[in-house]
Amino acid sequence: MSIHIPRGTADVLPGEVELWQFIEQKSRDLCQRFNYKEIRTPIFEHTELFQRGVGETTDIVEKEMYTFQDKGGRNITLRPEGTAAVVRSFAEHKLFGDPNQPVKLYYIGPMFRYERPQAGRMRQFTQFGVEALGSYDPSIDAEVIALAMGLYEELGIHDLRLEVNSVGCNTCRPVHRDHLVQHLGERREELCADCQSRFDRNPLRILDCKAEKCKEITKQAPNITEHLCDDCSPNFEQVKEHLTRLGIAYHVNPRMVRGLDYYTQTAFEIMAEGFGAITTICGGGRYNGLVESIGGHDSPGIGFAMSIERVLLTLQSQKIELPVKRELDCYVVAVGEQAEKEAVCILNKLRKHGLRADKDYQGRRMRAQFKAADRNQARVTLIIGDDELEKGIAVVRTMATGEQQEVNLNEVVNFIATNMNTIEEEK
Ligand code: ATP
Ligand code: MG
Repeated sequence: MSIHIPRGTADVLPGEVELWQFIEQKSRDLCQRFNYKEIRTPIFEHTELFQRGVGETTDIVEKEMYTFQDKGGRNITLRPEGTAAVVRSFAEHKLFGDPNQPVKLYYIGPMFRYERPQAGRMRQFTQFGVEALGSYDPSIDAEVIALAMGLYEELGIHDLRLEVNSVGCNTCRPVHRDHLVQHLGERREELCADCQSRFDRNPLRILDCKAEKCKEITKQAPNITEHLCDDCSPNFEQVKEHLTRLGIAYHVNPRMVRGLDYYTQTAFEIMAEGFGAITTICGGGRYNGLVESIGGHDSPGIGFAMSIERVLLTLQSQKIELPVKRELDCYVVAVGEQAEKEAVCILNKLRKHGLRADKDYQGRRMRAQFKAADRNQARVTLIIGDDELEKGIAVVRTMATGEQQEVNLNEVVNFIATNMNTIEEEK
């Protein structure tokens, strides 16, 4: 019996992988411009990191983690998200002591969640995320949002909806919590099973429940924004002012609480319509208590994460074609025993010159080699037969125009390299 790929995972084959590379490169470019540096943390961590860092009452920790015991009996989890590990690393390497504050980091890598797979929901998916640690300045909240929006904009994605909220802090959240519990108390029994258990542990999360019944029950529930304290209220106003100044349109959604337990103050989501039930393509927010809860020095932080999978689905649903390069610079067509040997050397020289070049390895006839050159979208074809070899020349054909030229064999690599630049300029 043949073996298949595990459910909720995907192979990315040539043809599609160029899109991934393009998006990843664009993310890296953007981070460089915003002065965020890459951080790479392990794919697995101690389970406790996520229990503490993501939160015991979250869907991730309650239902979605890939957790196992290693041969040494340790509890290990494949990372379901990036923030907890970045924060662990920040604390572990005492980056709070770095004179460059805030510490601005980004990551791109696979995450693992045991979920019910559907379009845009995978068990292994790739997240691009950023974290800015060490600053309370609301302008960094706006910067982080601007970076996420900037990526979509530069990829050509449009019609996005940015929703923002403030979920308060340890001062104002308990006040709101009391109002909420009082409001929901009478109808507690009618809530879904998850929410009944959330009721005592983390009632705020009930506002985030996707069950219709819970949505209806929480319709009139008090909003956190009505209870923001003297720190959080002006902070939220400033974040919004910065966004306006940056020309970033937003909607305040006082019911958006986000899935992770550690959020404080700013929370945001970016939505796009078009690929089934899922609309959120990016989520982020502030987590001022997280570093301390993981055992670090008390430092504030803010970040976001988005999956490349959902970026791709958005591009697809908006019919956006990324300008990816798939073509070959040169395909070497060789006919005859000597010519085939020469082709091996010329090919090597072309590649050393930095050109993307290939040749036939299937013993194809000339016509089939030309077809292969076309399939590979070669911009020029270099043709050598034993006759040409004897004369010390090769024929160079520019595929777009059909123009052919005989060039001295010793000069042909340089000739093609120069030719490439001209084609590039004419584009
Ligand atoms: P959802 O409500 O869709 O489950 P979430 O709140 O679990 O999202 P976060 O933990 O905030 O999502 O993750 C941030 C981003 O990571 C999401 O906006 C989405 O782009 C992406 N993401 C999360 N889970 C998956 C998944 N299983 N497959 C693909 N992308 C995902
Ligand atoms: Mg989820």
